[in-house]
Amino acid sequence: MNASPKIAAPGDVLGTNEEFLSGEGTYEDEGKIYASVVGPVFIDDKELTITVRCKNPPVELQRGDHVIARVIALYDSMVLVEVLMRDGDDRAISSKDTSAVIHVSKIDRRYTDDIKREFRRGDLIRTEIIQVKPSLQLVTNYPHLGVIRGLCIECRSTLQKTNNGLVCSNCGRRETRKMADDYGNVRFRRRGE
Ligand SMILES: [Zn+2]
Repeated sequence: MNASPKIAAPGDVLGTNEEFLSGEGTYEDEGKIYASVVGPVFIDDKELTITVRCKNPPVELQRGDHVIARVIALYDSMVLVEVLMRDGDDRAISSKDTSAVIHVSKIDRRYTDDIKREFRRGDLIRTEIIQVKPSLQLVTNYPHLGVIRGLCIECRSTLQKTNNGLVCSNCGRRETRKMADDYGNVRFRRRGE
């Protein structure tokens, strides 16, 4: 695929699952393969596998760290996410288990009535770690925390922040999120920049 970026950032579309298998440093969602880390993109032509490799030593997650995570599933009282990287850091995360939860009471300072109005599966979010062991627990109840890139639940295109809230760039659908204060302006640091 000619359009593959040489250096990918989390959330970049690398291809489709009809072209490639999702390898290390990538994830698959609704037929598309996305980068989960910052790093160079490699395509194995024989295996048709696409990978993104971080070469710097991995980091240990600590309480108080801001991390970028992807929303995996929504439940009545919590959100299940996968931690992708530390915010502003391009190294891989050493912890094997990157699954984490955000309790409904820790999503926002105000009362959260319906989790589906705050997060949706596939969204990229910035969170803060409040507990590492025995399980990874995150919060988004500060203005700088929350969704940094939301996906339309109909067509999976990126939601754009407008004066009238979030609008799908493709189909025009309006949605709501617990947004980070810099939604739409987040730039992932890429190696060499
Ligand atoms: Zn849409």
